[in-house]
Amino acid sequence: MNNNVSASNWGCEELINESSWMNIPDKKGRKRLVIIGGGFGGLKLARSIKGENYQVVLIDKNNHHIFQPLLYQVSTAAIEPSTISFPFRNIFRGRQCFHIRTCEALKVDSKQNILHTSIGKVEYDFLVIATGADTNYFGNKNLAKNTMALKNTSEALFNRNQILESLELALASDNPEERERLLTFVVVGGGATGVELAGALAELKKYVLPKDYPDLNADLMKIIVISSSSRLLPGFKERSSREAADYLESRSVKLMFDTRVTDFENGVLKLQGGEIGTYNVFWAAGVRANSIEGFDQKVYGPGNRLMVDKFSRIPGTTNVFAIGDTAYFPTEKYPHGLPQVAQPAIQQANNIVYNLKQMEIGEALREFSYFDKGQMATIGKSHAVVEIGNFCFGGFLGWMLWLGLHLFYILGVKNRIVIFMDWFLSYLTYDNALRIIVLPLKKKRHTISIRKGDIPCPQKEETKETSQQTSNT
Ligand SMILES: Cc1cc2nc3c(=O)[nH]c(=O)nc-3n(C[C@H](O)[C@H](O)[C@H](O)COP(=O)(O)OP(=O)(O)OC[C@H]3O[C@@H](n4cnc5c(N)ncnc54)[C@H](O)[C@@H]3O)c2cc1C
Repeated sequence: MNNNVSASNWGCEELINESSWMNIPDKKGRKRLVIIGGGFGGLKLARSIKGENYQVVLIDKNNHHIFQPLLYQVSTAAIEPSTISFPFRNIFRGRQCFHIRTCEALKVDSKQNILHTSIGKVEYDFLVIATGADTNYFGNKNLAKNTMALKNTSEALFNRNQILESLELALASDNPEERERLLTFVVVGGGATGVELAGALAELKKYVLPKDYPDLNADLMKIIVISSSSRLLPGFKERSSREAADYLESRSVKLMFDTRVTDFENGVLKLQGGEIGTYNVFWAAGVRANSIEGFDQKVYGPGNRLMVDKFSRIPGTTNVFAIGDTAYFPTEKYPHGLPQVAQPAIQQANNIVYNLKQMEIGEALREFSYFDKGQMATIGKSHAVVEIGNFCFGGFLGWMLWLGLHLFYILGVKNRIVIFMDWFLSYLTYDNALRIIVLPLKKKRHTISIRKGDIPCPQKEETKETSQQTSNT
């Protein structure tokens, strides 16, 4: 393993000796529970562990929880990033024996009970890996470099900038071919994220373009969804797929099925058997688990997910758990692992909380069993498809349910009403001040030695980079 590494996420060069210990107060006789990842699973766990028995250390490479289901609305400038991004230090303000460290978990040494991170190592009594999943480009570097992804707030803001810049450039262009590429928005992936994004783009075209860009013919904006499957929402019932397809087609969204994307470079999206001229491609076609290194090779299952036993424990360990998108938990109903959505992560977290109590009193552990609460996807501002058990409905009623549930899960905190009003009004009226292009300016600031004895490197020259180069982190 490297010794001195630099984790320069924030514009400064931090010299970190990974082999030194992380700066965490003494646990004073408590058990130390280290949670990697403050997403749906990690956050649920961290909020539910109460009492005097644990010192909790929450590690996340971001300093905030991201409510991923609404990232597409940030991308399309419908809501503010702050309405779906919650700083951990705010969520856990006042919690005793609770320590937050913004850093990247690198490797687990499960023999020594040590987690190595980008700011040093930390010992644990219990470790929960809740690192979620990232976009999967299936090894294609051009797709990774040139398409827009939708996994975190930085990416959503990058997308927002790119959409708005494309509209501005299209307006300025007198080259019809270039204008067409700028106004062609392709969503690769026909699952819930792809459908939601396409629906939001269709709304942008219908409600925003005529008002904000009166000099631009809104009909020139093309939205295309490409799916390798034979229908939209392949995980849903046929009826929902049809409803989503009908709705999007009624908004002039072009749907291409059984189509595979092979490459994207210089404004040309290559397909198996064709190509599309575009500068705007969203990649919503697959995920790969963010598993941490250090386990036996056979622990890494399909999609890089970590195999777990019935108690969500990593095989060969008794105190290391994996939950949510990063865990591989096949069941009879889900032989390829539980769906990579919020509920399995939340329910697995609840089961771990229960089992930690059982361990304290020396009682038997409870096996995890997933309760499927149903699934839903919104297709437009007042249209969603919902499936609960054998019930399947959509339209406005579906959308109201979608709205209510998302608000319930997104907030669950005291300022629910304030954020609800802010979000609801801006989403409904589309009359907000969010359609601003803010390009991140990256400057090299300082070289910082956070440990005594690290030798600072010479200061590098200041660099200015455009968002294109910097923001897809
Ligand atoms: C655009 C989009 C829309 C979605 N819509 C829905 C929906 O409508 N309904 C639904 O149920 N699900 C939806 N999902 C899926 C859902 O968001 C995930 O299934 C859920 O977030 C998984 O929770 P998790 O706790 O496993 O991981 P996550 O919520 O992804 O959290 C993982 C956390 O780990 C951190 N992390 C990762 N690696 C490291 C590391 N090495 N070191 C430190 N920290 C690390 C990340 O910063 C992150 O905070 C959507 C996902 C996306 C991307």
